Amino acid sequence: MLTFLSADYLSVIAAVVGLVIGSFLNVVIYRLPRMMERQWARDCAELQGQAAGPDEKPAFNLLLPGSHCPSCGHPIAWHENIPVVSYLRLRGRCAACGVRVSPRYPLVELATGLVFAYCVGRWGVSLAALAWCGFGSALLTLAVIDWDTTLLPDEITLPLVWGGLVMAGLHWNPAVSLNDALWGAVAGYVSLWLVYQGFKWVTGKEGMGYGDFKLLAALGAWLGWTALLPVILMASVLGAAVGLGLKFYGRLGPDGHLPFGPFLAAAGATALVLGPEFLLLAVGF
Ligand SMILES: [Zn+2]
Repeated sequence: MLTFLSADYLSVIAAVVGLVIGSFLNVVIYRLPRMMERQWARDCAELQGQAAGPDEKPAFNLLLPGSHCPSCGHPIAWHENIPVVSYLRLRGRCAACGVRVSPRYPLVELATGLVFAYCVGRWGVSLAALAWCGFGSALLTLAVIDWDTTLLPDEITLPLVWGGLVMAGLHWNPAVSLNDALWGAVAGYVSLWLVYQGFKWVTGKEGMGYGDFKLLAALGAWLGWTALLPVILMASVLGAAVGLGLKFYGRLGPDGHLPFGPFLAAAGATALVLGPEFLLLAVGF
């Protein structure tokens, strides 16, 4: 199948598909945390005995309402919603009110395009490649949501853990046996949980959240337990470097808190592309 197309050509097609998926990831990044907040508000209202809770309408989910400018409400037509191209053509502004659109939208689309091109380039047109595209997309989405909101939604982290175990179980991931994936998930969760408890015991503060444990469990399931130590080391070094940089430029918030998820995700992606050994070399081990 598709043998008449060269590998380069397939990677280009994958990149285009990735750009479109990236456009959807932007929706997830923006809406999923807001959907969670709405759910919490409903749960709180229910606990307080307000049967109805906050008004359910208008519907707010990943599909509804249709894309619109958050500033003026202008509905975004399909030709204003072409990944990257529309952003460039409209010079990063809303077509109706001219308010600036964050360059993050095209950057997320480009990053997703890159993930898809890489996966198809490495694994060909296969179900394994599709699974790795999902893995990369999930890491990207989690990293940006965590950076924005310090949340790592269970809706993404938990399927990612199961996905890694299923990958190994189906032998779609030859480098990682089911055994390695299972213990990777367990050790990923438990190791950060122990660090969290230790940190809390020493400082009385919570250094990270349960979402971080689940994310590392997912990385352990996809990359195997042997990748965990390199991933934690690289994520810590990256986090410290970015934290110091932000502090130097006075951009760190008053509590000095930096989410750990984006650095775990970046280290996990680097481990996938360059190998866990590279992470150890990079941090000087
Ligand atoms: Zn507008």
